[in-house]
Amino acid sequence: MVPTTRSEASENVSGFALEVLDELRIRMMESRLALQALAGEAELNFDELDEDLQAVQDAAREAFEAASLVHQGAPLDSPWADGPSRPRAIFARHNAAVRQGAHRVDPLMTMACDLERALWQLRMGDDAEAAARRPRCAGTVRTTGEKCVSAVIHLGGGLVGTQCYSHATPAERNQYKVNHEVLNAQRSTALGALLNRRRDAGVIVMEHWLQYREARRQRLGNGFLPL
Ligand SMILES: [Zn+2]
Repeated sequence: MVPTTRSEASENVSGFALEVLDELRIRMMESRLALQALAGEAELNFDELDEDLQAVQDAAREAFEAASLVHQGAPLDSPWADGPSRPRAIFARHNAAVRQGAHRVDPLMTMACDLERALWQLRMGDDAEAAARRPRCAGTVRTTGEKCVSAVIHLGGGLVGTQCYSHATPAERNQYKVNHEVLNAQRSTALGALLNRRRDAGVIVMEHWLQYREARRQRLGNGFLPL
């Protein structure tokens, strides 16, 4: 089956809809930020509400990403059911089209992506990345004589050893331990900075909400819906 191309596709998502969906994602994040920043004002455990909001934040991201695929005219396999497709069905239909040889399209990156990255993703230094891309150990397993399949140890500063922890020299092991402690300290510093950014953002959101709330009150006073 030839995947449906943009010109044949019956689905369409306007730029206006994308903007609104992106805003919806931001509103969900704002709700979580405000809730977290309330900690000093309300002595209650809101963890379940935060989990629910996170689920909606994730669902809103999926909705936006699927809509952005349709908006970009991503090749889609034919729908498998009548009526508009759900976001996950759009991903599945696009993946099916790609498996049949169509080109892959990535979701668009927008303001909500920037916000999510800035406030929910832990940013570690290059060392953490280097640690994640380590080659295999050059040693052999003494009992079997086969090549060791473990990753080489990470020595810090972008350096890796030639062998894994159990095949490393005592000096390498010591350097590994020192670096491990440095990485742990960096991780907790990065986490602390992230939580600070989130709390500051939560305070900004609460201020915006209360300003808007004053305008709502005036509209209600003038006989309009408080929107
Ligand atoms: Zn090894």
